[in-house]
Amino acid sequence: MVHVGIGYDVHPLVPGRRLVLGGVEIPHTLGLDGHSDADALLHALTDAVLGALGEGDIGHFFPNTDPRWKGAPSKVFLEEAARQVKFHGGRIVNVDMTLVCEAPKIKPHIEAMKFCIAEALGVNPKRIGIKATTNERLGFIGREEGIAAMAVASVDLPEPKEFVA
Ligand code: MG
Repeated sequence: MVHVGIGYDVHPLVPGRRLVLGGVEIPHTLGLDGHSDADALLHALTDAVLGALGEGDIGHFFPNTDPRWKGAPSKVFLEEAARQVKFHGGRIVNVDMTLVCEAPKIKPHIEAMKFCIAEALGVNPKRIGIKATTNERLGFIGREEGIAAMAVASVDLPEPKEFVA
């Protein structure tokens, strides 16, 4: 049975931080602020995968109050979501993402992001979609105050044996 999950995340852009998206460090004058490496794309994707499983969200597995995850590469969060898929006896069919980002240009980094995500999820990069769009200079994204990401994941899961309320 194919289940789908959805994820959304946003982080503020600030000076003095690295910009990491899809597990790839991108040279830029601003970086995303957050407890971990603040990789909004991997956070949205992690939530999408966990959502397809009906599991708790990224904050449930990795509370931002836990010093263990301070500055952590978000790839470890996605790897945990992949472990949860295995634990549920499932298989990732495909994942798709959209980054909403005014600057810098994302396209030159998409292949590297796909490779990083494929490695974390243990799937072929052909099962991974990543698109980037600007916000047409509108709102906080348009003013380059932050970057948002959306993701969906489809996971093939075994039929549940019984209904447990
Ligand atoms: Mg986040």
